[in-house]
Parts: sequence; C-alpha cells; structure tokens
Amino acid sequence: MIILKTRHELELMREAGRISHLALMAGVKAVAPGRTTMDVNRAVHEVIVSMGAKPSFLGYAGFPASACVSVNEEVIHGIPSKHRVIREGDIVSIDTGAIYKGYHGDNAFTVAAGQTSRECRELMEVTQKCLELAIAAAQPGNRLGDIGAAVEQYALSHGFGVVREYVGHGIGDEMHQDPEVPNYGTPGHGLRLRPGMTLAIEPMINMKGDGVRSLEDGWTVVTQSGLPSAHFENTVAITENGPVILTRP
Ligand code: MG
Repeated sequence: MIILKTRHELELMREAGRISHLALMAGVKAVAPGRTTMDVNRAVHEVIVSMGAKPSFLGYAGFPASACVSVNEEVIHGIPSKHRVIREGDIVSIDTGAIYKGYHGDNAFTVAAGQTSRECRELMEVTQKCLELAIAAAQPGNRLGDIGAAVEQYALSHGFGVVREYVGHGIGDEMHQDPEVPNYGTPGHGLRLRPGMTLAIEPMINMKGDGVRSLEDGWTVVTQSGLPSAHFENTVAITENGPVILTRP
C-alpha cells in the first residue's frame, strides 16, 4: 500500500532528512587512508544521536551499526569493522538514515580515500549523475518506469552495470514502504507518481556487469565481477511543484 504523506508528515521527514544528510557528510569526512570503516560508523552515529534522532539502521533486522560502509567491490550493506582499514584509492559507499519523531530519512554517498583511479572516478560521477537524472524524472504525473529508465539508460551508455536485485523504496514512518523503486524500467510504464509520495531513490552501479552476491556474514553484497560499485541515494518527496530532496539542508 502506498501512503501519501500530509504536509505535517513531510515537515517531520524534512528534519529526519536533514539529520540523515549531516550524518552522511560526517561519515564522508571520516573516510581517509588509515581510518577504519568503524571510524566512519562512529562519526555517523554521533551526529544522529547528538541531534536527538535515532539511527534507522541500528538493529534493523539485526544490523549491528548505524551506517552501512561498503568498500570497493562491496555494493551495499557492508558491516563497519575496526579491523577493516581503508586504503589509498579505495572507494567507500556510506548509507545511513535517521528517525526523527517517528519518520525516516535515508541517503547514501560514495567517496574516494585519497587519490583513486580514473575508472573509479568515472564510476562515482556517473552514479551520482544517475541519481540526479532519476530525481529530475520524479515529477508528478510521470511513472516509476521514468525514474528507472533515467538511471538505466545513463549507466548503460557509459558501459556500466545496473544492480537489479536491490532497489529503492518508499519511505515514511517505516524505512521501507511501497513502492519498490527499481533502477531500470521503461519510460511511461509503471505506477503513476503523485504528490505526497516519498521515495528513497538509490542507484547502485557496477563497473562491470549487473551481477551481485551476498557474503556469508548475511549482509554484505558484493559484485560478481569483483570490480568496484558505487551507490548514491536521496530521499525525495513528489510535490505538485516537482521533486523535493528531503535529505539536503
Ligand atoms: Mg534506501
């Protein structure tokens, strides 16, 4: 069931989104060669709790941390560890969310530690652009397929792979609500977008191929190719005036 949010609910989600964004940026700043993925998690966690919010991810289906921190070929759901040291040239995807007065924000960003390769820079730039194009397609009256197609067409035009097994989602007083928001689709097809819908749009783009698999820890998703993947996400409200990014100050 798709829940349309009231103006008041959107205000609460805007604050949840603002906190989520500040937490994410704290995580991004904590990425550097020699730091650990647990350092990133700690930076994220401190911001969320200091602002009177709760981490959406901590304890979600048993997830043990406040941020997912996924390095290189890890696509999503990497578990922070004090033993996982970030090295020069790694690309690090951070995903985090906050609950404020019962409402969630959810956002993700991929950043390089120090200098990385030209290929990794292109992968990150294309994935970020995929998110921008997807948000631009999130207009009232458009359809879900317009969002997915925007991501898919741009990623494929650069020779990259679009992850199909994991998708974006509706969001509100639960982190995951209907509808699913795939990063592939056919323009003009699928559910019609209406004002009051709130969506977490999150392209996950692989350097090569769309295949992924889960590790034995039960969480971490990695590419089949072993090559890097990037992930960017915003929480977006569909309004009569177009898309509004909630996870942005
Ligand atoms: Mg999400």
